[in-house]
Amino acid sequence: MRLPLTLAAATLLLPTIAHATDIKLTHATIYTSPDAPPLHDAAILIHDNRIVAVGPTASIPSPRNATTYDCTGLTITAGFWNSHVHFLPPQLLHAEQHTPAELNGMLQTMFTSWGFTTVFDIASPLANTNLIRKQVADGTLTGPRIFTTGEPFWAEVPIYAQQFIADNHISIPVTTTVPAAIARVDQQVHDGADAIKIFAGSIEDHKVVLLPADIAKAVVDEAHRNHRLVFSHPTTIKGVELSLDSGVDILAHVSDSEGPWSPALIQRMLSAHMSLIPTLTLFDVEAHRANLSPQSTQQLLDFVVDQLRTYSAAGGQILFGTDIGYIPQFDTTEEFTLMTRAGMTFPQILTSLTTAPAARFSASTHSGRIAPNYDADLVVLASDPATNITALSQVRYTLRAGKIIYAAPAK
Ligand SMILES: [Zn+2]
Repeated sequence: MRLPLTLAAATLLLPTIAHATDIKLTHATIYTSPDAPPLHDAAILIHDNRIVAVGPTASIPSPRNATTYDCTGLTITAGFWNSHVHFLPPQLLHAEQHTPAELNGMLQTMFTSWGFTTVFDIASPLANTNLIRKQVADGTLTGPRIFTTGEPFWAEVPIYAQQFIADNHISIPVTTTVPAAIARVDQQVHDGADAIKIFAGSIEDHKVVLLPADIAKAVVDEAHRNHRLVFSHPTTIKGVELSLDSGVDILAHVSDSEGPWSPALIQRMLSAHMSLIPTLTLFDVEAHRANLSPQSTQQLLDFVVDQLRTYSAAGGQILFGTDIGYIPQFDTTEEFTLMTRAGMTFPQILTSLTTAPAARFSASTHSGRIAPNYDADLVVLASDPATNITALSQVRYTLRAGKIIYAAPAK
């Protein structure tokens, strides 16, 4: 059937008109990218899910139907990436058993209230994470953009995960042959995994069990053949070396046991373009779980902070990540404080939250900075993090794809 031309045009236009939203944020301090000086008294115009314009408030147009938010005194950056999270808390696991309100509450508590507009889950049941992200994508849930590795590869289930896995009836096979490892990588990629996670070193009772070298190499090679990056949990220097030998792309933590990273090891990591996710807060949380003395806790933190300092100072790529979902401490303040203690400046920390992950995960043409045609993923902060780094944890609004997905309660 052919519609009259005018009606056809109107029908085609209707969805655009009905869903079009223009948002204008005005009079803010805006960091368009980590390497650019801030814009003062600046504005951003958003149309649908994209940024249209950014610049001095007076220079940005005001479309008739735009909703304007006066951001006087506030600071805006590109939406944050958290490159190490898990969809494991009981409020997210077995998602089919929770109401959308319950799931939304946890997505806000864990992610959007801290400014995260993109998160990388690096070990969780793939089917469950797929269900959640499908519902975020279709608007049933309100949350960040979600990438996932699905289930990890390890030689043995880490001791700290055994009870959890049993209690929640999660099944993660231990892959013992190269053909089985290759088949499992292919299956997970087929099922939607965006990357692959290995435990190069798996923490067991008083020992660390390394993934056999031939399995590690086969998993990484097959992931790369499928154009997927590989994350690795190193635990020890040997775990870092195994990760390098097998071609891993991203270390999911600093390594907390065995001595500091030697200049030769740092050089190998740099040559391999290995990214590092520090997860410094994790070590404080684990120290408390293990009832370490304040002095031992401080020693552990000094050790991991030093590792980050060494790799960052050498020019290694740092990706922000906190291991939330494994640790229950969602507040990011401590991580920013420890990263600062490791010598990282505000622009370097903002890089780890925005442009570095966007580049690493092949999204830098549309994500990580505030510019025309980029994703309208933004964080509106209560104050300027250049003055005090913990301002990065004081989130007023989080916008994802042009929609406000978090607004701080009025004080
Ligand atoms: Zn983790």
